[in-house]
Amino acid sequence: MPDGQLQPPPTPLVDRFGRTVNYLRLSVTDRCDLRCTYCMSEKMQFLPKAELLSVDELDQVASAFIARGVRKIRITGGEPLVRKDLDALLSRLSRHLGAGLDELTLTTNATQLASRAEMLVRHGVKRINVSLDTLDPDRFFEITRRGTLGPVLDGIAAAQAAGLKVKLNTVVLRHQNAAALPDMIRWAHERGMDMTLIEVMPLGATGEDRIDQYIPLTMIRDRLDQIWQLQDLPQTDLSAGPSHYVRIAETGGRLGFITPLTQNFCAGCNRVRVTCTGRIYMCLGQDDHIDLRAALRGSAPAQTALDAAIDQAMRGKPERHEFEISHRGAAPALPRHMSVTGG
Ligand code: SAM
Ligand code: SF4
Repeated sequence: MPDGQLQPPPTPLVDRFGRTVNYLRLSVTDRCDLRCTYCMSEKMQFLPKAELLSVDELDQVASAFIARGVRKIRITGGEPLVRKDLDALLSRLSRHLGAGLDELTLTTNATQLASRAEMLVRHGVKRINVSLDTLDPDRFFEITRRGTLGPVLDGIAAAQAAGLKVKLNTVVLRHQNAAALPDMIRWAHERGMDMTLIEVMPLGATGEDRIDQYIPLTMIRDRLDQIWQLQDLPQTDLSAGPSHYVRIAETGGRLGFITPLTQNFCAGCNRVRVTCTGRIYMCLGQDDHIDLRAALRGSAPAQTALDAAIDQAMRGKPERHEFEISHRGAAPALPRHMSVTGG
């Protein structure tokens, strides 16, 4: 292109079904200090650290997506707060805030949140999701196979004190937390937190039968309808994602339902996921992926190779997932664990 001539703006990310991708979930590690029974197996094998993208590479990937119209990035994992150089990564990514990126956020189990909340605020994070499935310390230990509830509650309190808006994510488990949901919802709403309920998804072998864990959220909603007035809310912003929100008249708080099994939401999908090794998965529930690490470490200029790989991935974005939990002993829909793709 001759000097002085303007480059055409980069093409936005639109897939074969007309869906625009403007949201990236970026996993920074597959490791975690918990072993939640629906997410991991007890004896989970983690990747050698050399396999992971460096801060530099994660930054290049994120920047390539922002240049193509991604407005929101969620850092996830594994547990993102176990990654020691997260501070450096967030510091880099925060330069895009207000310059292409609207929101930088994170999903965490909160075990280490008490000591890291200020760091998140320093890098422009304004709200976070905390995964919490129970308020009972024994149940917490049972579900996470090792965790202590106290530090998690301290982490939530510290995050709120630091000015972060916190939303709780709760995977609903038939025998372990379904009955206690009204108490948990009340607890969250009293503390100014929205809460989202999630149907368990059949991803990866965990040593548990999914049929013992799964309960349709249609059933939970019916139960909640009997004790409260649930007012359906219109889907308004990017952060709502696949969640269908209601406001509970009696508590004043918002409650979301993520229903991959009972109500497919793929038609409105606006996201892609990049794993900590640089694989881009265009759908949580399918195995198609493209290796961005090869593009980053290959001989072609990284920016050009990344752009080409992202375009190739967009062309292959599947229409929808095919999750199903129908009978005892069924194999997982995919061998990949949620902690690998980044939730
Ligand atoms: N460690 C962080 C956490 O727990 O928030 C971030 C990663 S975790 C994989 C992201 C989210 O995925 C969490 O809210 C977790 O509850 C959810 N999750 C993990 N496995 C799941 C499954 N099989 N079905 C539904 N949700 C799952
Ligand atoms: Fe760890 Fe999050 Fe998976 Fe639980 S859900 S094992 S906290 S990655």
